[in-house]
Amino acid sequence: MQVYKGTKIVNGIAIGKIKIYKAPVYEINEELVSDIAAEIERFESARVKVQEEQNALYDKEIKEGHKDTAGIFEAHAMMLDDDDLIDSCKEIIGEGHTAEYAVREGFEGAAEMFRNMDDPYFQARSADVIDLKNSMLDVLFGADTANLQGTEPAILVAEDLAPSETVKLDKSLLLGLVTRLGSSNSHTAILARSMNWPTLIQCHDISDECDGKFAILDSYNSCIYVEPDQYLIDELTAKQHEDREREAKLQELKGKPSETKDGYKVRLYANIGGPKDIESVIENDAEGVGLFRSEFVYLNSKTDPTEDEQFAAYKKVVESLAPRLVIIRTCDIGADKTIDYMKLDKEENPALGFRAVRICLNRREFFKRQLRALLRASAFGNLGIMFPMIISRWEVQECKEILEMCRKELQAEGKAMAEKIEVGIMIETPAAALCADDLAEEVDFFSLGTNDLTQYTCAIDRQSANLERFADTHHPAVLRLIRETIEAGHRHNTWVGICGELGADPTLTEEFLRMGVDELSVNPKSILPLRDNVRKTDLSQGKTTETKSPKPSAAQSEVKEEKPKGLFGRLFS
Ligand code: PEP
Ligand code: MG
Repeated sequence: MQVYKGTKIVNGIAIGKIKIYKAPVYEINEELVSDIAAEIERFESARVKVQEEQNALYDKEIKEGHKDTAGIFEAHAMMLDDDDLIDSCKEIIGEGHTAEYAVREGFEGAAEMFRNMDDPYFQARSADVIDLKNSMLDVLFGADTANLQGTEPAILVAEDLAPSETVKLDKSLLLGLVTRLGSSNSHTAILARSMNWPTLIQCHDISDECDGKFAILDSYNSCIYVEPDQYLIDELTAKQHEDREREAKLQELKGKPSETKDGYKVRLYANIGGPKDIESVIENDAEGVGLFRSEFVYLNSKTDPTEDEQFAAYKKVVESLAPRLVIIRTCDIGADKTIDYMKLDKEENPALGFRAVRICLNRREFFKRQLRALLRASAFGNLGIMFPMIISRWEVQECKEILEMCRKELQAEGKAMAEKIEVGIMIETPAAALCADDLAEEVDFFSLGTNDLTQYTCAIDRQSANLERFADTHHPAVLRLIRETIEAGHRHNTWVGICGELGADPTLTEEFLRMGVDELSVNPKSILPLRDNVRKTDLSQGKTTETKSPKPSAAQSEVKEEKPKGLFGRLFS
């Protein structure tokens, strides 16, 4: 038996033969040619053909209900219209090179540009450009790529897989996925998550000699066993059955209350980024939306979105999900979420800088546009408003004053609005947590943003991969601030939820319930597992310690938010 280690992307067990997936390798003619017009013509017709393919993949994904992955192909089709990319290829042809040579050089140059960016998300986008390059070369060489996957169900092992290769795979033949390269931010990883295939990346050592051999992919343990012994086969087959039963059982929890054995009810809400997530809120039976990150409405727009554009997005979500409560957080731009048209100064410490509500309070017209859109949308369902990055009471008061000003303006204009709108704040700074008693007098609810609360409490940059070892998401200081915020909220009849990633951490569910949390807002996919967890908990039995929870294993924190980052994020999200 051989064991190969990798990095897990999706937990699961896959059992079957290995199929090594090999994309064709082309030998490109480097000699100069004389008929430049003919090469330009070949380049153009390949470009149009690949663009049509990408549009067809987009349609296919939409038809199959995979809106997120469809966006990848929409972005690819847009990239093939990019003037810089087209011009650079045509320039190379103009120097007397073949269309194939120009595609290799032009697309690899663009991929290199992405690879050299600091942000891992952008770095991962180079794979999208290489994917397009390969599709262009397939067309120019007239290759037949239809049967690379083989004809039997198998665990597919590839060097790396491009999104368009991944989506073309016959799912009925795919047991699991292993790549030697790849990154957890890549679109292939995103696709794998959305398809729920057991997946391992960075499995560097697995060789082509494994082709056709029997194997078990155990991504819970981040490894693949090739020619495993009978003991492992029996153990992991049983685990696979358990997984299937658990998945089927989770579906039965739809419509069931999120209530502990001893009757403690908690509301399980979803975190979303816009109207595209409505379906998954409903599908996963979320009881409401605890965090609509409205900044994605801004990130998805090329220019500052107008009041009407914002109104349309908020109305769609609120109306489609009525009577569920939908809490929309006002624009949380800044730090890692930057937008060109906002023309924000470059800062030394953007996470501690001009961001979120600080921008809104300094740019009143900008803020008012959003508040007016929110108030107008409130007429169509049950809308709540939440302000991010609060540290002081005066900030909340000023937000509320501007909100009231907008309400009066809209009333005078004869616009419909809900009579009562719940107003809350994010507790994501130690300052807010420590002043929670004071702040609670101003609002209907608190929502603990544990991602930032951890960053600011522990002085750990949440973006830094180098700090992984120091980043204790269960740090006693953070848990204590959470507990004290809940207690402070309740002293003032302010309900308290958690909308940071920690809310979905199953090892903390019981502790949060014991603290008295009223709502947990999580990635839609975490709703049913969390409900299961809640329903299995009995608070009348035993008691957890205050701050000594174990660190979550990577398996437990496996369901991650996928959110677009930065400007190119708009293109690829
Ligand atoms: C948080 O900080 O925990 C949070 C939910 O907000 P975001 O992740 O969008 O900063
Ligand atoms: Mg935050």
